[in-house]
Amino acid sequence: MIVVFLGPPGVGKGTQASRLCQLLAVPHLSTGDMLRQARGAGTPLGRSVAEFLDQGRLVPDEVVVSVVQQRLWQPDCRTGCLFDGFPRTLVQAQALEEMLAAEGHRIDRVLELTLAEDQLVARMLQRAQRENRADDTPDTIQRRLNVYREQTAPLVAHYAAACLLRTVDGGGTPEEVFARITACVGQGIAG
Ligand code: AMP
Repeated sequence: MIVVFLGPPGVGKGTQASRLCQLLAVPHLSTGDMLRQARGAGTPLGRSVAEFLDQGRLVPDEVVVSVVQQRLWQPDCRTGCLFDGFPRTLVQAQALEEMLAAEGHRIDRVLELTLAEDQLVARMLQRAQRENRADDTPDTIQRRLNVYREQTAPLVAHYAAACLLRTVDGGGTPEEVFARITACVGQGIAG
């Protein structure tokens, strides 16, 4: 099963994605985690994306698409995978569809998590204290929300038009949100 998680920064995609991955027994492909890991390891890729990460700007499409393509070639992705934070632009969405189609696959379900903007900011500020993420400062948080609105939110209409989208209220406890998610994915399996 191939699932895409869509939603603004701070909505809880990472937490919910890892839980759903356990349930579906598929790997969790978080482009944010992959890019942060590359930066931490000081690889050429990591050095080239550091500034984008720290400023809350999107890494160029061709760079992210190539990272995802290489990850998809790993054998653990054969039974499916869950994308968290990818695609983030229409160009990336198109590239993903082409990569999957080349292997005879397609996206089964897109889950959009939603939450009011003031709650997103509050959650990111809490995370800043917990995880010390360089991109969870007030200025960068605002930029990332703007980037989401301008570049990623158009994907909602794109996936709705393809009849793949389910919108899930991201408010409440992680358990409540996860129950809503599993209900949507269940519908996906049923067809
Ligand atoms: P995330 O952990 O998903 O919030 O991503 C953290 C940062 O990684 C983003 O603010 C971007 O700088 C970068 N990033 C992650 N995924 C992508 C993507 N699909 N396209 C471009 N940049 C990305």
